[in-house]
Amino acid sequence: MVKQVDNVVLDTLKERLKEIFGYSQFRGEQEVIIQNILLGKNTFVIMPTGAGKSLCYQLPALVTEGMTIVISPLIALMKNQVDQLTAFGINAQFLNSTLTKAEMTRVKNDALDGSLKLLYIAPESLTKDENLEFLKRVKISFVAIDEAHCISEWGHDFRPEYRRIYGIIENIGNLPIIALTATATPKVQQDIRKNLQMEEAETFKSSFNRKNLYYEIRAKKDTKKQLIRYVRNNKGKSGIIYCLSRKTVEEIAELLSVNDVRALPYHAGLDSNTRMANQDAFLNEEVDVIVATIAFGMGIDKPDVRFVIHYDVPKSLEGYYQETGRAGRDGLEGNCLMFYSYDDIQKLEKFNKDKTVTERDNARHLLNEMVAYSTLGVCRRRQLLSYFGEYLDKDCGFCDNCLKPTEKTKVQDEVVLVLRAVQLTEQRFDGDHITDLITATDNQYVRSYEHDKLDVFGKGLEMNESRDYWLSTIRQLVILNYLEKDIENYGIIKIGEKGLNYINDPYPVTLHKDHNFEEEEVKVEDDSADSASGGSAHAYDETLLGMLKALRKKVAKEKDLPPYVIFQDPSMEEMATTYPTTQQEMAQINGVGMGKVQKFGRQFIDLITRYVEENDIETAKDVVIKSTVNKSKIKIFIISQVDRKVSLDEIADVKDMALSDVIEEVEHICYSGTKLNLDYYINQVIDKERQQDIYDYFMNAETDNIAAALDEFSNDDVSEEELRLMRIKFLSELAN
Ligand code: ADP
Ligand code: ZN
Repeated sequence: MVKQVDNVVLDTLKERLKEIFGYSQFRGEQEVIIQNILLGKNTFVIMPTGAGKSLCYQLPALVTEGMTIVISPLIALMKNQVDQLTAFGINAQFLNSTLTKAEMTRVKNDALDGSLKLLYIAPESLTKDENLEFLKRVKISFVAIDEAHCISEWGHDFRPEYRRIYGIIENIGNLPIIALTATATPKVQQDIRKNLQMEEAETFKSSFNRKNLYYEIRAKKDTKKQLIRYVRNNKGKSGIIYCLSRKTVEEIAELLSVNDVRALPYHAGLDSNTRMANQDAFLNEEVDVIVATIAFGMGIDKPDVRFVIHYDVPKSLEGYYQETGRAGRDGLEGNCLMFYSYDDIQKLEKFNKDKTVTERDNARHLLNEMVAYSTLGVCRRRQLLSYFGEYLDKDCGFCDNCLKPTEKTKVQDEVVLVLRAVQLTEQRFDGDHITDLITATDNQYVRSYEHDKLDVFGKGLEMNESRDYWLSTIRQLVILNYLEKDIENYGIIKIGEKGLNYINDPYPVTLHKDHNFEEEEVKVEDDSADSASGGSAHAYDETLLGMLKALRKKVAKEKDLPPYVIFQDPSMEEMATTYPTTQQEMAQINGVGMGKVQKFGRQFIDLITRYVEENDIETAKDVVIKSTVNKSKIKIFIISQVDRKVSLDEIADVKDMALSDVIEEVEHICYSGTKLNLDYYINQVIDKERQQDIYDYFMNAETDNIAAALDEFSNDDVSEEELRLMRIKFLSELAN
């Protein structure tokens, strides 16, 4: 291991990132995470699906001496990951019971002679004596534990064999560990650290906010009609439909097939050949939709899944979040729809009948959270983030509850009452108890703690609100951060700083009415909302993109690989924007390293060259002298990023430009007549009132000169950038 990550190593990391994976920038905290593990320190990574966890252990595995062990729970899916690494030209293999003796020997030889860089292994195989003996003889750099939440019995996906991993690693040697997961409530995080004895390990937790995912829940009525309509409206896009039982999976796959949707089933009851074949058909895009039980999807890295539908209610929010997380991993469109009915909850409860008391309690807690999430009228994203221990300070504006809100009310006395009840009972009780207390429900607990003597006792009754109202209020106050959940004890709520301040200085708080799915009308005819993020005009050449995709499919078929292993959608969109016609230009595309150019590039470059010639397309390099090539490329890049609603700060970051330079480019683009909609960014950085003021100013001003505007706003602390952004908005809306 490297003892000190010096500048040379850092430069190398960045070079290798581009050379091998084709990315010019690290995403989020990838770089610091990699540095941490390279220093030989234990590392704990919590990142949502699609954020780029794999790179956090793959890249360091390639730049250190020795082999990296990757522990991953499902044998069947290791092949997919190994295929992807092989496409990048990396020696990665897996070791499991499906290998023949000869294959096994080859893997072991590669490991022993040092050529093997990453070895994927399931915990079951790790515990086998012969494997353990072999691993002791190999030089190992570090151990990566993927899907680390499987260690915890408090989560939704507990695997007993995961709890033994630590003992085995210790047995192999004193190795640094990097544990990674895409789902862990604060309690589960604590459990993972304890079990892996890495309490000291630095945690890198990225936001769980998947901004490109659209969350929606509909009443489970007329469901089949709704489903068919939805899938038809998303024709040609990849989607996953999750159902609870094998029977429903079969039934829905059949239903879709007879309705001309290319769909296949996937569940554990199918023999393994069929299962593999159906999975491959989905990955290879021979079918659009896979209908599956939750057995499907773990470790599936298909980056261009455009919708995930939960036909039945899932057992936990962790499961839901992970399954929906499979949509839009490439950062483009991802729609998540769930059908909800309370019947489903009751069905799930029945399944838990035969479990032990503890298991049943855990399962019930998880289900309660699911019910709350579905029925609360609060922004879905705020709820999900709150569940995973993150606080979002405003509504997201991009979920069903934000776009079609339930009735809202402003309350104050009610909030004070709840907070005081929690405070007076010393933050040791759950929402049910607090509700009993303020509604004066006659029960022995309230009496035995003498809570009936508190002044808040029965106060909620006087306000004429139902028990459900108070339960909902308490939940909403948790999401709004006035109340907090106790990590150690499930259900117990405490008051945070915000809550304490509130009691002293209250103000009106907006609460949402719960959904009543039993009564909510469904409009099967309404199809406008089915593709929430679709419909925008694109900056890329759609004809060329179509041709590139067809070629990708053909090449994929020849090589027996999923299409996205060749090139991913964002890379192809960039190709259809910048028309690369040489290997060097191709290697500049994000997500395309030299390895890929050499492996797959030729045919694509030929196709683009022919297309450019036949259609007389003037690419940037034809029309301008060399030094300005980059400039035009920057413009094209900015247009495509704005199209995808990437923030200008991020664009500036990626291109290593100052924000003001990016704004200047945008101005040029607008002045030359291209309409750019920057609202998503402007709304983020300038509050509405200020926007209005500046907009009004330009409306009435004699000139759009920035100096004049700065002068006008000199008392209001308005920055030049804000003025220029608003001028772009103003000109785009009125002039272009
Ligand atoms: P996770 O394991 O966290 O779900 P993956 O490791 O599969 O996510 O990465 C998700 C997607 O992000 C993949 O398509 C991957 O190629 C891409 N990706 C990862 N790191 C980067 C990066 N630094 N720049 C651009 N794309 C990246
Ligand atoms: Zn929202």
